[in-house]
Amino acid sequence: MSYKFCVSCGTALEESAPFSPQLCNNCGTRHYHNSKPCSGALVVQDGRVLLARRGVEPFKGYWDIPGGFLEAGEHPEVGAIRELAEETGLRIRLNGLLGMYMDRYGSDGAWIINIYYVAEVLGGTLAVMDDVAALEWFALQDLPGEFAFEHQNQVIEDFKQWLENKESNMKKYEVSLNNQDIVQ
Ligand SMILES: [Zn+2]
Repeated sequence: MSYKFCVSCGTALEESAPFSPQLCNNCGTRHYHNSKPCSGALVVQDGRVLLARRGVEPFKGYWDIPGGFLEAGEHPEVGAIRELAEETGLRIRLNGLLGMYMDRYGSDGAWIINIYYVAEVLGGTLAVMDDVAALEWFALQDLPGEFAFEHQNQVIEDFKQWLENKESNMKKYEVSLNNQDIVQ
C-alpha cells in the first residue's frame, strides 16, 4: 500500500501512518494512498442477474459482479457501460445507482471503492470476453456460493431492497443524474 521511493526524485520514503500521505523529505512531493475507484453493474433480465466467473487472480474462479477499474477522468456511469461491453459483449442501460462499497483488492490489500448500478440489456450478444472465464444468469434465491469480494454480499442485499421500490428508484436516478446524456 505504501511507496518505497519518491515518484518525482527517487529518494527513499519512510512508511506513513495509515491513511496519511508519504512526504518526500528531499523534494516535498506528497504520495497519497487514495482508494481506487471501480464501477460495475448488476444487469437484470427476467428476474435474474448476470454474474461473471473470474478468469484471473485475485480470486480466480470465484463469481463476481461484472465491472472494473475506472480509467483517468472516466465517469463511473461510462465506466460501468464500458466494462460490461468489454466483459460480456452486452450494451446496457443504467436504471439506478445502487450504492458505493469499500473493499480491498489483491495481495497488497489496496483499498478500492466500488460503485454499482442496476442495469438492463439494450443489445449486443452475450459472450465471454476479456478476463472472464464464464457468464451466467442467476435467480436471486439461487445465487452461487461465495463471491470474489466480501462487499458483494451487501450489494445483493441492497439490490433486493432496491427492487421493492423499483419504479421510484428508477425515476429518482433519471432525475438526479440525467444519465441519458452520458449513456448516448
Ligand atoms: Zn522526492
